[in-house]
Amino acid sequence: MTYPIIVKTEGLKKIYIYDSQTVQALHGINLTVTKGDFLAIAGPSGSGKTTLLNLIGCLDTPSNGKVFIEDEDVSVFSRRKLSKLRLEKIGFIFQEYNLIPVLTALENLEYVMLLQGWESEARRKMALTILHEVGLAGMENRRSNQMSGGQQQRVAVARAIVTEPVIVLADEPTANLDSQTGLSLLGLMYSLNQTKGITFLFSTHDPMVMERAKRIIFLKDGRVDREETK
Ligand code: ADP
Ligand code: MG
Repeated sequence: MTYPIIVKTEGLKKIYIYDSQTVQALHGINLTVTKGDFLAIAGPSGSGKTTLLNLIGCLDTPSNGKVFIEDEDVSVFSRRKLSKLRLEKIGFIFQEYNLIPVLTALENLEYVMLLQGWESEARRKMALTILHEVGLAGMENRRSNQMSGGQQQRVAVARAIVTEPVIVLADEPTANLDSQTGLSLLGLMYSLNQTKGITFLFSTHDPMVMERAKRIIFLKDGRVDREETK
């Protein structure tokens, strides 16, 4: 059985201009992500992982090359259309959790659902269901500053999936967690991939985390060094 391609990059290049110097972070990346992937972008610090995820997530624009999300070339999208695409099709998980600190776990989920236009009762019901699915029953009304790093990152996972995106992008989601908590978070992501078919693309420089991916793309100095499929 073949699965549809949901993300494709063609000759993706990124050159940063910084202090009148230029840094080429990506040198022409071609990759495809198919529905149901559990794909790791691996590589040492500075290899271009964050740059690549930011381009795929339409948070930044390439210097050259293209990103296609579900066959749509996003380079022709207006800013408004891009933010709509991000809201509807992409879930984000960051290294530093990036929750809204004054909001509770439940409210952090409801906030993105509100932006998507969910009606109040359905919103609360779905948010509660997802929080329970990620193992946070009893934590619904805690603020992020009252939660551990592992719990906050579970809220971030819940927030990323509650809007049913096409793909979840996670930039080093375990980097701020101790190795046990990190592996448990990855286990959660994997089980969501297996049971709900959610597509994950995550970056890491941790060999323990890479091991859990179904497919690994190794970056080196902004180029694809090699690819491994399990
Ligand atoms: P990684 O996430 O793998 O650590 P990055 O994508 O953050 O790699 O960085 C790739 C390269 O681009 C590095 O050399 C980094 O210093 C450079 N870089 C990243 N962001 C910027 C920026 N905003 N301005 C200038 N250089 C940057
Ligand atoms: Mg990075």
